[in-house]
Amino acid sequence: MQIVIASKNKGKIKEIKAFFKNLDIRWLTFEDFSSFPDIEETGSNFIENAKLKAKKIAEYTNKLTLADDSGLAVDHLKGSPGIKSSRYSGMDATDKDNRAKLLKELKHVCDVKERKAKFICSMVLWDPRKGSIFETSNICEGFIGRVEEGSGGFGYDSIFFPEGYRKTMAQLTQEEKNRISHRGSALKKLHKFLSSEI
Ligand code: IMP
Repeated sequence: MQIVIASKNKGKIKEIKAFFKNLDIRWLTFEDFSSFPDIEETGSNFIENAKLKAKKIAEYTNKLTLADDSGLAVDHLKGSPGIKSSRYSGMDATDKDNRAKLLKELKHVCDVKERKAKFICSMVLWDPRKGSIFETSNICEGFIGRVEEGSGGFGYDSIFFPEGYRKTMAQLTQEEKNRISHRGSALKKLHKFLSSEI
């Protein structure tokens, strides 16, 4: 079975491939195609954006396509950065810029309860002949730390403490992260779905 990953985010691609090591799936990415369309994320929520990405890449490649849309919602910021997580500090923002902006926004928020946040991941598998054949949305709750800790992962990992852990997401191994993360939960459900299909 071949599945295209509709993302240019190397952190996500790495997590997805690691999760499915034991299934006979050939994962294709943007690097396997001479060009890969850029997709405007115009949906108003994560699942809409995941569907947009999956549909567009499935139609372009004519192959089964997996897309996820994910982000971080901070309680104190009423759910921001949300669907704008990857461009929180501007269109060309790096992960580091985004983390710096978030830490600044929360600088005066001392109570850890006020620093609660959750990662959200919506995932869609799109068949170019049938449309959407699998959809799921999942969360991982925790809080935002005061400084960066750890060098693993990507995005906001080094400032996010998952509930029940004294380490940031960036201090966990890939396996530990996949066991508890929003994307890990989505991938677990996808694994079950694909295992019954293969
Ligand atoms: P997307 O590529 O539009 O789904 O944007 C996802 C953005 O949300 C990423 O660029 C990160 O900033 C953030 N994000 C999503 N999942 C994670 C994660 O597992 N760890 C850290 N940041 C994440």
